[in-house]
Amino acid sequence: MQSNQGAMNKEKNKTGRQVVDLHMHSTASDGTLSPADVIRMCAAAGLQTVALTDHDTVAGVKEAIATGREVGVRVIVGSELSVTHNDHEFHMLSYGFDPGNGPLVNRLADFRQSREDRAFKVALKLQEFGFDIRLEDFERSADGAPIGKPHMARAVMENPKNNGLLEQHDVETSSDFIMKFLSDTGLAFVPRDKLPAREAISLVHAAGGVCVLAHPGWTFRRNFASAVSFLEELKSYGLDGVEVFYLGHSKDQTEQLRIAVPANLTAHQDLTGGHPAFQTVGDMILANGKPVSLVGEGLVQRLEDQVDPAKLAQKYRSVARAFLHDEGNPKSWAARCNSAILQVKKVIPLYRVACDLLPRAYHMEQTGQFTGGLSAQELAENAGLGEVFQAIRSILDRQDATDAELWAIAISIQTDAK
Ligand SMILES: [Zn+2]
Ligand SMILES: [Zn+2]
Repeated sequence: MQSNQGAMNKEKNKTGRQVVDLHMHSTASDGTLSPADVIRMCAAAGLQTVALTDHDTVAGVKEAIATGREVGVRVIVGSELSVTHNDHEFHMLSYGFDPGNGPLVNRLADFRQSREDRAFKVALKLQEFGFDIRLEDFERSADGAPIGKPHMARAVMENPKNNGLLEQHDVETSSDFIMKFLSDTGLAFVPRDKLPAREAISLVHAAGGVCVLAHPGWTFRRNFASAVSFLEELKSYGLDGVEVFYLGHSKDQTEQLRIAVPANLTAHQDLTGGHPAFQTVGDMILANGKPVSLVGEGLVQRLEDQVDPAKLAQKYRSVARAFLHDEGNPKSWAARCNSAILQVKKVIPLYRVACDLLPRAYHMEQTGQFTGGLSAQELAENAGLGEVFQAIRSILDRQDATDAELWAIAISIQTDAK
């Protein structure tokens, strides 16, 4: 270690910066791994402090904290709340509240329950019209997330028994179906319980926590300019922070957010020591492998002591294979691609597999070492995935893609070891 680097590390460490990731999901909502497995993966990736933020629930938090104690990862209580303000619906991350707090936890339970009740009522109404649809179909389509209109539309439309009826009603696309049946003026409309942002913020504050606006680049992708006034309003209700660094944000959005976020709202880089938009904390340690603090160095050391690169490579490959090829897996590429989510959102799991897991697996197999010192792009190029990396990068910057484009990328990805 060069001495000036050492001095810099000490300087950074004095500010108390840690390597953290404060936004992740488990099977308690729409994630792929159990809460315990998420935390084990965090330990393997060298993270020191993490928050589990499942949608509208704290169901996985207890397990995550217990596992965190076993593997030496500090787990902060969290949840990603679905809230509304001025007819906008968006996500708000909440942290550090008391998970046993009555008013907050009861409200979350009621909220989730009322969304399920609503979905059940919509299913009944659709049945009256003759559609072949049950609550379970919606649940399968939502895959652990709170059931929304796109999930409902998809569940109805992918059942061939509904084809005739859809034709009768002139429904060709999911948006046709939402307009005709699920919108405020739709034939099967059932009003939904809303959790106003203002109420959510005060509940979280009363339970001792803080609130952070999640991925505003997504929420405001159609009108990003309006995000600033929106932020100011939320700030007046007590919003504590904004998620600036998010995989689905383009480089431009990240830059604009860094500038636009009111100075006294914590930006994510204060917690991580700052990293470019297209880099997760895991990348920083494993892919880029340049720890920016003494803490980070300790984490890499621990990773090297406790995890066998060859085994980690196998694990990464099996996750990639299951995602791309296991058609029975409801979270597979095929299932995700058939869902009514945004094109650019579909590309995020593809990025994880093709630009993160597989290139790292390749490097570990070839060298027997972790992937320190190489950028995600270099790693992808070495693994023969350079073109895929560029294609995905360009989709994230454009914030758009076509189905054909996405499938062409997916089928070009080779998951087996060379
Ligand atoms: Zn999330
Ligand atoms: Zn979200």
